[in-house]
Amino acid sequence: MFKVNEDYLKLPGSYLFSNIAKKVSAFTEANPDKKVIRLGIGDVTQPLCPAVIKALHSAVDEMADAATFKGYAPDLGYSFLRDTIRDKVYKKLGAEVYSDEIFISDGAKSDSGNIQEIFAKDTKVAVCDPVYPVYVDTNVMSGRTGVYDPATELWSNVIYMPCTAENDFAPALPSEVPDLIYLCFPNNPTGAAITKERLQEWVDYAIKNKAVIVYDAAYEAYISEENVPHSIYECEGARNCAIEIRSFSKNAGFTGTRLGYTVVPKDIKTDDGVMVRDLWARRHGTKFNGAPYIIQKAGEAVFSDEGQKETSEQIAYYMNNAKYIKEGLKDAGYTVYGGVNAPYIWLKTSDNMTSWEFFDFLLENANVVGTPGSGFGPSGEGYFRLTAFGSYDNTVEAIDRIKKL
Ligand code: PLP
Repeated sequence: MFKVNEDYLKLPGSYLFSNIAKKVSAFTEANPDKKVIRLGIGDVTQPLCPAVIKALHSAVDEMADAATFKGYAPDLGYSFLRDTIRDKVYKKLGAEVYSDEIFISDGAKSDSGNIQEIFAKDTKVAVCDPVYPVYVDTNVMSGRTGVYDPATELWSNVIYMPCTAENDFAPALPSEVPDLIYLCFPNNPTGAAITKERLQEWVDYAIKNKAVIVYDAAYEAYISEENVPHSIYECEGARNCAIEIRSFSKNAGFTGTRLGYTVVPKDIKTDDGVMVRDLWARRHGTKFNGAPYIIQKAGEAVFSDEGQKETSEQIAYYMNNAKYIKEGLKDAGYTVYGGVNAPYIWLKTSDNMTSWEFFDFLLENANVVGTPGSGFGPSGEGYFRLTAFGSYDNTVEAIDRIKKL
C-alpha cells in the first residue's frame, strides 16, 4: 500500500485564496443579481503592454522557421535575458551581480517555495508575521516546522517576527538566531517598505550569525519613496548572505504569462566552501526545463525604452488606485497602512471585528472581496488587505460602497 508524504498531511486547511474563492462563489450563487468587486487576490488586470506583445509576436514567428526555431531553453535562462537583467536592474543600482548568478524561472512563487530545498532538514526558519503563506507552507512540506498549534496557528519550530503598527511593519531582529530568514519588501500583505538602514541591519545580522536571507522583491517596481532599497544588494555585504527573488508578474503584468528570476551570489558559501549557487544550479538542472523562449523574449522587452515607459504607466495606474483606496478609507474613518510603495492597502477592521468577520461584512454589505489579514498569520488578525490591482472604475465603485456602510 502506498503512503503519502506525511509532512503534507500536516498542512492546515487549504490555501488561503482557495478558501476565499469558495466563500465568494457561494455568495454569488446565492446572489446572482449582485455585482461583486474583487480586490482580494493580488492579480493584475491591465493587459500586457504593446512592447511586450510585439516581442511575443516576433518570438512566435521565430518558432515557425526552422532556422530560428528554439527547443529546450537553457535551464538557467537565455543569456540575452540574464545579461539584460544584470545591466538594467543591478548595474543601474550600482549592485554587483553577475549573469551566472541570475536564474530565470517561471515566477517568484515557485522560486520562493523551492529555495528551501537546498538547505538542511534541520534549518531553523524565520518569517515575518503576517507573511506570504508560501514560505511557511513549503517548509511544512519539507518537514522542518515542528508541531502546529491550531489555537495560536503557529508552528513550534518556526521563528515568527511580528510586524505591527508599532514597528512600522518591519520586524525586529530575532533573539533566537535563525539559519534562513525570509524577508519581503515592499511587503505583501502589509504594503510596508523598509529603509536602507534597516535592511543593512538585517544584512549585518545575517553575516554575523552565518544566516541566509531570502529577499522577496516581487513588488520592487512600486517603490516611490527615496531611501527605500530596490534590491538587497544595495546593502554592503549582501553578496555574502542574501538570495534575491524577483518577478515579472507585478511590474509587467506577467501573472498569466509566467516569468521570474532568483539571484544567488557565488559569495554565499558553507564553511567547507560549498557554493549555495551551485546547489541551486544543480536543482534547476534536474527539476526545471527552462522558461519558454517566447516568454523570455517578452521579459527582455520589458527592459527596452518602450517597455520601461509602458510598464511604468501601468504601475502608475495601479498606484493611483492605491491612492484612491487609501484616501477614501481614511475619509471613512479607517486606520490605513501601505499603498505608498506597494499596491496593497492594509487596514484595521472596524468595530473590532475579526478579519474573517470583516470579510463577511464587506462581502454581504458592499459586495466587495478583500483578504482577511489573519489568513497571513496571527499578527494579521484584526487587519484586512485590499489590492490596487483592480480597474479604476471598480476600485472607485468599491470604495464608494464601503464609504456608505
Ligand atoms: N512573492 C510575493 C510576496 C507575492 O505576493 C507573490 C504573488 O502574489 C509572488 C511572490 C508570486 O509571484 P509570481 O507570480 O512571480 O509567481
